[in-house]
Amino acid sequence: MQNGSAAQTIAVLGAICDEIERSKDYLCELDAALGDGDHGVSMAKSFNAVKAKLPDLAGGDVSAILHSVGMTLISEVGGAMGPLFGTAFLRAGKAADGKSAISPADVAEMLAAAEAGVIQRGKAQPGDKTMLDAIHPAVEAARQAEAAGAGTAGVLAAAAEAAQAGAVSTKELVAKVGRASRLGERTLGHQDPGATSVSIILRVAADALADANAPAANADTGR
Ligand code: ADP
Ligand code: MG
Repeated sequence: MQNGSAAQTIAVLGAICDEIERSKDYLCELDAALGDGDHGVSMAKSFNAVKAKLPDLAGGDVSAILHSVGMTLISEVGGAMGPLFGTAFLRAGKAADGKSAISPADVAEMLAAAEAGVIQRGKAQPGDKTMLDAIHPAVEAARQAEAAGAGTAGVLAAAAEAAQAGAVSTKELVAKVGRASRLGERTLGHQDPGATSVSIILRVAADALADANAPAANADTGR
């Protein structure tokens, strides 16, 4: 039987897919300065494929849903992003294995697992001007927020804020890996598209979760 976290996960994923589609042109513009200008198209293509599969995932738990999203991303997307984002979702799903409800600590560990997967798959490190420069600070912020007693929405909000700052900070980095590394110093001043996508995904997830939690809180207090 489906639990609340699973239904919430599907709703959050739907919101992510829609926002990636809306951000397509912006992500392509960022990639035009650093790579081949296809990042928004690749992301939109892959997340539209995810969106088409969401109705079929309604019976699964969080782990199964994220696993399926990861498999779709890996199989549907060209470029660097499919395997990297796909691995991130697969690992986050694995970290949620066997859990019928997702705790704030689980959120932090799912993000940490996603980061470890991206590092293993792409062989890059934080500081190389990639999506890791958004994921890494997000993991640290999530862990700190969880230790300070934040709920799941609060942990994700802290992660999203750190990812956004991390994405902006890539302007100060020289690309060390991927297509952008060919431009060397000329990558300075430009924001990394993959890090920006991570930041968008976490922002939408945090906002969707906060919205989902808000009406229940209001109902409880009768306001
Ligand atoms: P491609 O480079 O194949 O055109 P995209 O344009 O979709 O792929 O994605 C580019 C993004 O991929 C970069 O902005 C960067 O964040 C990310 N990226 C590239 N190589 C790696 C890597 N080895 N590890 C992590 N992220 C990477
Ligand atoms: Mg590209």
